[in-house]
Amino acid sequence: MDLRAPAPDAVAALVAALPPGVAVTDAVAVEKYRRDRTEDPGAGTPAVVVRAESVEHVQTAVRWAAEHGVAVVPRGAGSGLSGGANAVDGCLVLSLERMRAVEIDPVTRVAYAEPGLLNAELKRAAAEHGLWYPPDPSSFEICSIGGNVATNAGGLCCVKYGVTTDYVLGLRVVLADGRAVDLGGPRLKDVAGLPLTRLFVGSEGTLGIVVRAVLRLVPAQRRPATLVASFPSLASATSAVLGITGRLRPSMLELMDRTSINAVEDMLRMGLDRSAAAMLVVQSDEPAGTAAEEISLVTQICEEAGATEVLSTDDPDESEAFVAARRACIPALERTGRLLLEDVGVPLPRLGDLVAGIEAIAEQHGTTIALVAHAGDGNTHPLVVFDPADADAEARARGAYDAVMRIALDLGGTITGEHGVGRLKRPWLEDYLGPDVLELNRRVKAALDPQGILNPGAGI
Ligand SMILES: Cc1cc2nc3c(=O)[nH]c(=O)nc-3n(C[C@H](O)[C@H](O)[C@H](O)COP(=O)(O)OP(=O)(O)OC[C@H]3O[C@@H](n4cnc5c(N)ncnc54)[C@H](O)[C@@H]3O)c2cc1C
Repeated sequence: MDLRAPAPDAVAALVAALPPGVAVTDAVAVEKYRRDRTEDPGAGTPAVVVRAESVEHVQTAVRWAAEHGVAVVPRGAGSGLSGGANAVDGCLVLSLERMRAVEIDPVTRVAYAEPGLLNAELKRAAAEHGLWYPPDPSSFEICSIGGNVATNAGGLCCVKYGVTTDYVLGLRVVLADGRAVDLGGPRLKDVAGLPLTRLFVGSEGTLGIVVRAVLRLVPAQRRPATLVASFPSLASATSAVLGITGRLRPSMLELMDRTSINAVEDMLRMGLDRSAAAMLVVQSDEPAGTAAEEISLVTQICEEAGATEVLSTDDPDESEAFVAARRACIPALERTGRLLLEDVGVPLPRLGDLVAGIEAIAEQHGTTIALVAHAGDGNTHPLVVFDPADADAEARARGAYDAVMRIALDLGGTITGEHGVGRLKRPWLEDYLGPDVLELNRRVKAALDPQGILNPGAGI
């Protein structure tokens, strides 16, 4: 079915069907809902934005969109890095930011979270019961649980604790026809029926709107010990990464390259080694004695790989400062130019080849590519930096972006490890999935959203 912009009287009917202030159409209010963090200048303009406060509001909006053949772009906190929440012209942006309730059941160790709840707010609610929600995107203070579920977000501790889907026990989802269904729930084991809960995790708003998540919690994390190592080359750093993953399971294994280190140092002035080609941030959250042994082993591995400096600490403030430096990479690099953000991942043994290939691509295309990585997962974020006022620089940056996707595919990797396909990575999806799997994806989409109203142009 062809989607279309709604007629003004249809929009007026939707505004009237919802409480005052829930649906907005004026240009100033709508502007804030046009783009996610990719700041894509090509993002469209919605006909209406619904800031739902309840499941019923979501259902009203989706039923209205289905009746009028209008595209629905679901939106959490808009911190996405793949254009998944970017508006299309004439669409309905369905913002979940106002649905933020959370309830903790400490006996079952689950949280019931509304989709607009921020990841950090969930962590705080769990901590009040001595519990922990592990998934920790670097953006945890500014991203929502609904967005995390929709992108199957990863983060810094995934290397040991897994990604969002590993914590999703159940979902309440509003389907494309406006029905609300419960998938899974607070049952620690449940294998009845097809595993549909997992199908919706990572579906980027293309199959349904997540209006509640039932999330597994675990006991609070032990205070981690932290190691920071500087390397004279990216190759020595990636060799240390493989040495570490081959011998132990750290709770964090992150990499920053020289460009990222310098951008963070320019912003935070914390005394990072500007001359290092790469820096690893490694943590162990094992009990104190074991953590000390692990940090000592990591020190040895880093030194054998050629590290020029290795520091370790179990002081919480000092540890947090290094982790904060890693989390600051994207905001720090955003200050240096426009970014084309990649999220390519490879099987771990190919990490060195990927990183070397990215260095070569930057040189061939005469562009800057900063590198930040959840290295222990083989998941890298090459960030192509360019001056948006320079058309030639932009063309070179876009060429480099494509070349990075291609090298990841050649190395048996994926075009996105955690940010999602969104709108920006769609041109490379078929090459990754292949025609049969792409067709399978499209059949699932057509079964759940026959009119194609949910987030058209994003994800699959
Ligand atoms: C500085 C920075 C660091 C980051 N670090 C990480 C990281 O370490 N790991 C990581 O995985 N990501 C990271 N991200 C990316 C981003 O924060 C995540 O993708 C996050 O999960 C997006 O959540 P959001 O609420 O902002 O979603 P949005 O950007 O609003 O939306 C993301 C996608 O989810 C869909 N969606 C949102 N809510 C719903 C819902 N309730 N139902 C159905 N679909 C929905 C949208 O349509 C869109 O396709 C980072 C971003 C920034 C800015």
